[in-house]
Amino acid sequence: MNIILLGPPGAGKGTQARHLVETRGMVQLSTGDMLREAKTSGTEMGQKVAAIMDAGKLVTDEIVIGLIEEKLTTETGAGFIFDGFPRTLAQADALAALLTKLGQSLHTVIEMRVDDDALVGRITARSTCAGCGEVYNDITKPIPADGKCTNCGKENDFQRRADDNEDSLRTRLMEYYKKTSPLIGYYYAKGDLRPVNGLADIKEVTASIEAILG
Ligand code: AMP
Repeated sequence: MNIILLGPPGAGKGTQARHLVETRGMVQLSTGDMLREAKTSGTEMGQKVAAIMDAGKLVTDEIVIGLIEEKLTTETGAGFIFDGFPRTLAQADALAALLTKLGQSLHTVIEMRVDDDALVGRITARSTCAGCGEVYNDITKPIPADGKCTNCGKENDFQRRADDNEDSLRTRLMEYYKKTSPLIGYYYAKGDLRPVNGLADIKEVTASIEAILG
């Protein structure tokens, strides 16, 4: 079962993807994580995309399609969760072609709906455990007082993303509405789209997704 989590930055795609990995053994393919890894390890590609990512712009289709193609042919598990990919119509067409080539298909596209005011609040308050990727929020899910990650126990190693600031977020939202939101119509027309209320409590969102996936 291969699924796409579609939604603006801060919609909760990463959090829900992690849950599906833990409970179903699916494989999370986050192009954002792959690009951040390339950036941190300083590969040629990482250096090329660093400034684009920090500004909140989209990197080229060619780069992300290449990353996804490589993972699709090397990773195995109980299906793929595409998190932050596709983000353009060209990427969506490329994904369809790649899956067909591998004799696979797309099961469903989960659209995580949230309003823009909530996104700004969520993103500017967000931090992540460097050990396991668990996401915290200064207001709704603060880092525990003892400084230990509730998921992996790592102490005092929480990071804020370079692009989780208001300026960059404004650009990321603009990129989302200009280039990614047309995918909602694209997948609706294909009959694959299933909306969930991303503003609900994390557990409720998880339950809605579970109900869709069966
Ligand atoms: P994310 O972690 O999904 O919010 O992605 C962080 C940043 O990585 C984005 O703002 C883009 O600069 C880049 N990025 C991630 N996925 C894609 C994609 N599918 N297409 C283009 N750029 C991407």
